[in-house]
Amino acid sequence: MSSTRTRTAAPAPRRTRGSNLSAPAQFIKGVGPARAQQLARLGLHTVGDLLYHRPHRYEDRSHLASINALIPGEKATTLGTVVAVSERRHGVYQFHAALSDTTGVLQATWFGQRYLRKMIRRGMRLIVHGKVERVGGLRMTVEEFEVLTGDEEDRLHTGRIVPIHPATEGLSPRVLRTVIAAALTSVASDVPEILPDGIRRRHALMDRAAAFHALHFPPTWGEEERARRRLAFDELLILQMGLLLRKRVFEAIDKGFRYAPTTTLLTRFEGTLPYALTAAQQRVIQEIADDLQRGRPMHRLLQGDVGSGKTVVAAAAMALCVGGGYQGALMAPTEILAEQHYLTLRPLMEPLGIRLALVTGGGRQRDREAIRDDLRTGTTNVAIGTHALIEEGVMFHRLGLVVVDEQHKFGVAQRATLRQKGFHPDVLVMTATPIPRTLSMTLYGDLDVSILDEMPPGRGVIKTYVRGPEKRPEVYVWVNEKVRGGHQAYIVCPLIEDSEKLQAEAAVTLAGRLQREVFGEIPVGLIHGRLRPDKKDATMERFRLGEIKVLVATPVIEVGIDVPQATIMVIEDADRFGLAQLHQLRGRIGRGSETSYCVLLADATTDAGRSRLQTIEKTRDGFVIAQRDLELRGPGEFFGTRQHGLPDLKVADLIADARLLEQARAEAQHLLGDDPELRRSELSGLREEVTRAFGRQTEAVSAG
Ligand code: ADP
Ligand code: MG
Repeated sequence: MSSTRTRTAAPAPRRTRGSNLSAPAQFIKGVGPARAQQLARLGLHTVGDLLYHRPHRYEDRSHLASINALIPGEKATTLGTVVAVSERRHGVYQFHAALSDTTGVLQATWFGQRYLRKMIRRGMRLIVHGKVERVGGLRMTVEEFEVLTGDEEDRLHTGRIVPIHPATEGLSPRVLRTVIAAALTSVASDVPEILPDGIRRRHALMDRAAAFHALHFPPTWGEEERARRRLAFDELLILQMGLLLRKRVFEAIDKGFRYAPTTTLLTRFEGTLPYALTAAQQRVIQEIADDLQRGRPMHRLLQGDVGSGKTVVAAAAMALCVGGGYQGALMAPTEILAEQHYLTLRPLMEPLGIRLALVTGGGRQRDREAIRDDLRTGTTNVAIGTHALIEEGVMFHRLGLVVVDEQHKFGVAQRATLRQKGFHPDVLVMTATPIPRTLSMTLYGDLDVSILDEMPPGRGVIKTYVRGPEKRPEVYVWVNEKVRGGHQAYIVCPLIEDSEKLQAEAAVTLAGRLQREVFGEIPVGLIHGRLRPDKKDATMERFRLGEIKVLVATPVIEVGIDVPQATIMVIEDADRFGLAQLHQLRGRIGRGSETSYCVLLADATTDAGRSRLQTIEKTRDGFVIAQRDLELRGPGEFFGTRQHGLPDLKVADLIADARLLEQARAEAQHLLGDDPELRRSELSGLREEVTRAFGRQTEAVSAG
């Protein structure tokens, strides 16, 4: 569970009638301030958080294997009394304890945990879990263990199926088990049922209070999954109800302005393009044009694989908007990309009398103010920029259309802030991430979706190769030859997460080395997140013009960069990147008609790692890659609910619970159809939960 979860943004949890779930964890017997702080580090702040803290596995301690029944080669759990301890101090520290029961002796070993010598003594009773081997006698490398205290409390930890919870330093599974058991007791008679009987019966769902109990302490195998299913259903139902309500609120909005049905500017815009729009682009532009003329604001997602030509669709939408007398704003996640959009769109739009401005963090104060003035007075028609667009000082005269490029790179709040610069403007968000249907139904349940399912014609093939690190010198000799033959290449540095500084340093080092050792007098350019914006622009410009042949870059070029004549990409330590990211990176080449080459340098030692890279090697289809990514990683952050402004799911899994999700959706539609305001008393608990999860987004109903 992520420790970065913050609760500040959530509406203050109100103690609701009959529910103790939102009481602070300290409310639980045996939890003092120190323990509460440890729990907080795991994101466990309230009683409810504890009840939802799912065990990562369970252990059947109702019949622990006796020592002589342990099977070498298998993982097992057993219980024994410590009869001797010893340690080995040279080399990697090892701690040994000989455990005995009535049937035999087991040598238990721990690696590198010196504190054990102070903790484990002769005569103690231990439960140990780990892999058993026979080396002379029976041995076990211990992964988890617990010391039994011998008193009443042990009954929680032995003789039953026990939960093993995700733990952390100072908070062992045993402590968590104790705290969660106390939490369950504290609310035992006080967990309100929130589902109407009919729904529970229809889907064979257990009672809510029983579900919390069985999730942690299943009386028999299988009950833990029934419990999880019940609680997952709640989450999915609440999610679906919130989405439907949100959509309803949204659809009731009148944007308060109408576009005259003029497409003159659009037609002229299409005339200035150096190419003909694809059929898919034309269709999507028409969908957008129809939206713009409606009374309620557009709320549309444009999905199109890397290179499918989303930018020009955004530009067409803005031409329509400006033609109708309003301003447009296009927000991109990086300065390099914003700058590029500005450079490509300016020559297309300015001849039509559309005035563009670039709004980024850099530049001189005086220039920035001039740009802001022009936006405020309406002199500028279209603003293209980074998150600098959402700064407080940026104001629009009449903002009618907001476009967010690479929308998954922005948080919900950022997108909302930009929207609030206008009065219910039309919104178009764009993404290259293809999303399976069950997911899009949920994550984008309140958006209309347009899909660019056709690539512009004349794209060359990309040949992709995976090469081990020993081939690195050869690869660069080959790149050098290609470059001398007139090609342009990207070299992407290894990914270093969480430190822009280290990432930048890695790029500087790599560029220096390649310049010296490989490319000689051929200039190697360098681009990373810490360069001054003007420096970045200058380098990108020189690469575009072909003055720089080799561009060493941090993964910032991942998003959106478009230099069609660049045909070679080498990705260093490719195994460190996710599939989606590799796909995005590779999408920088293969944009012209020539054949492109992508070399993934990788030391893929695991099967999963190899299989991922093979996926990239074999296909260029973003949808296939996303599916594969999903199978390998689970929904992960790309498809995370939080990122879409939806409540966290603690037990439900949008992929694995797809069927449950559809059932919940059907019930949500049914409930809201019958009782749009959720006034029936048996729905009051559910209504509270929806309001709690979605806050003000469903206000029209909670106010009603
Ligand atoms: P993405 O969807 O990844 O954002 P871009 O908008 O960057 O793709 O477009 C990729 C490239 O395709 C650009 O060089 C753009 O000029 C070009 N392009 C877009 N539409 C067409 C078209 N209909 N015909 C030819 N080239 C096109
Ligand atoms: Mg793009």
